Amino acid sequence: MKREKPEKVVAEVFRDNDSFVSGKGEEFFKSHLEAQNPVITLITCSDSRVHPTVFSEELIDRVFVIRNIGNQIENCVGSVDYGVYHLQTPVLLILGHVNCGAVKAFLKGYSDETADIRKELDHLCIPVSKIKRTGSFEKDWLTAVEENVHWQVRVALERYGLLVTRGLLAILGAVYDFGNYYGRGYGRIVLINLNGIKDREKILSHRAMSLVPGELLDKVVI
Ligand SMILES: [Zn+2]
Repeated sequence: MKREKPEKVVAEVFRDNDSFVSGKGEEFFKSHLEAQNPVITLITCSDSRVHPTVFSEELIDRVFVIRNIGNQIENCVGSVDYGVYHLQTPVLLILGHVNCGAVKAFLKGYSDETADIRKELDHLCIPVSKIKRTGSFEKDWLTAVEENVHWQVRVALERYGLLVTRGLLAILGAVYDFGNYYGRGYGRIVLINLNGIKDREKILSHRAMSLVPGELLDKVVI
């Protein structure tokens, strides 16, 4: 990986913000000056290939974003509580992704990383260490990504299960597939867990999925 010159990137930040500001106008900013009204609490990986832009162009005031290496709840639990309890988003989306470096680091060993990186990766121990190795690293890597998402949903259910039971919250566990590993097309978000449910038929018939168009439903559920 080649490190670019800081001055080049600094200029990029302000140039891009200038285009953003000119494209929006004052009214846009005034509309959400007093409060935020997000509808999704998103926990995803810090990986630069993964952004909420993969499912929404309108992120401002819509998506409350929490990111860390390996899209883990336990490293940012206060922020997740804030989105779910305080901002009352009806959806908690836990979005893992293919080729996740954090999951890979866990599988390969991470004793050479800094103490704080190790501390964050330690939480992957429960979901990732239990996977059965198949001999194909690529396959195991994707399985580990999925197991991590399932684990995060489980952690979320322990905290927010009551809201789910009352129909006030849907917890989605999904994988952003920018490598077309699921054969649903490059860049697709594939749903692998809904409120702890992993069974495809049960997910398909769940009320939370009832407004997803039929032809799309088939593609996005694992
Ligand atoms: Zn990642």
